[in-house]
Amino acid sequence: MGVVLMFGGQMPVIKVGRMAGQFAKPRSDSFEEKDGVKLPSYRGDNVNGDSFDEKSRIPDPNRMIQAYTQSVSTLNILRAFATGGYAAMQRVNQWNLDFTVHSEQGDRYRELAHRVDEAMGFMAAAGLTIDHPIMTTTPFWTSHECLLLPYEQALTREDSTSGLYYDCSAHMVWVGERTRQLDGAHVEFLRGVANPLGIKVSDKMDPSQLVKLIEILNPHNKPGRITIISRMGADNTRVKLPHLIRAVRGAGQIVTWVSDPMHGNTIKAPVGLKTRSFDAIRAEVTAFFDVHEQEGSYPGGVHLEMTGQNVTECVGGSRTITYNDLSSRYHTHCDPRLNASQSLELAFIIAERLRKGRLRRGITSASNTGGFVI
Ligand code: PEP
Repeated sequence: MGVVLMFGGQMPVIKVGRMAGQFAKPRSDSFEEKDGVKLPSYRGDNVNGDSFDEKSRIPDPNRMIQAYTQSVSTLNILRAFATGGYAAMQRVNQWNLDFTVHSEQGDRYRELAHRVDEAMGFMAAAGLTIDHPIMTTTPFWTSHECLLLPYEQALTREDSTSGLYYDCSAHMVWVGERTRQLDGAHVEFLRGVANPLGIKVSDKMDPSQLVKLIEILNPHNKPGRITIISRMGADNTRVKLPHLIRAVRGAGQIVTWVSDPMHGNTIKAPVGLKTRSFDAIRAEVTAFFDVHEQEGSYPGGVHLEMTGQNVTECVGGSRTITYNDLSSRYHTHCDPRLNASQSLELAFIIAERLRKGRLRRGITSASNTGGFVI
């Protein structure tokens, strides 16, 4: 997706992985009921188990230690992939695309990879170094919702050189739609750490409250500190997002605007599984770009729930997944994710939009301004 956006959109792409999204989940309902039995909700593997029995649903603090150990291993693998040669641009043709063989997205990707190859051939012929670390490694950052405060606090350290505190459980942490109360514990915690922060906002966010929240979290208006992640569905994006943009701009606050087209579009399929429709996701991304175009602001990124595997959790996409297909490879414990093909399809749509935005603003491919967060 990074290559599709970078090559298609012709701008730098900052890759921030929302990792282990099911390890600590905010839940709208505290209880789950099945066949007349009522149990506490599953709150993510960091807290309790998802099996529907009383024992599994009891919170177990040892889970946090196991999650920490798993995170360490995962970060080691990520570091190895990002810096050990796997991410080298020369391998663009070899990245594992088994799942997209014989598909429209696979063909589009291969075509793009071919063009990247050609561009590198040209660069090499012109004497430009293609084995520079810029071409052979990739920076990759991690993030998650700062929800489980005992876990986050335990991993917070003072940087002895700057005296600043960092929550070392991830590079970027965000405050969720359900925990962003101005006088709440999560905001109080985040105010004290120097990490880049996200703020999730739904249509329920009042513009003046958002301005106050940003003031609390970024009193010195430091660029890069605050990313606002809007998740409100396409219709609300068109109606409500402009007011948030105007209020933030009016207060002179510097933020990055990002679209999360997943969390405002969750529905229950007739079979009872939680799902999201690719069309609704695409519609919210389109609305996000349209609103920023109309407001003269900058669409800074997208925040997705996706997997590189060939799951059937979200309906739609060009290899149409229907409600009836959902149960065939529904592997998520909680939130439905885009599969590899749907993610690539979305990346192509966004790249096209970024390219048009650059053309509209008269930016040529040689002048590399702006960037996009994924
Ligand atoms: C999430 O990103 O996993 C999440 C639950 O987001 P929100 O707080 O926006 O619902």
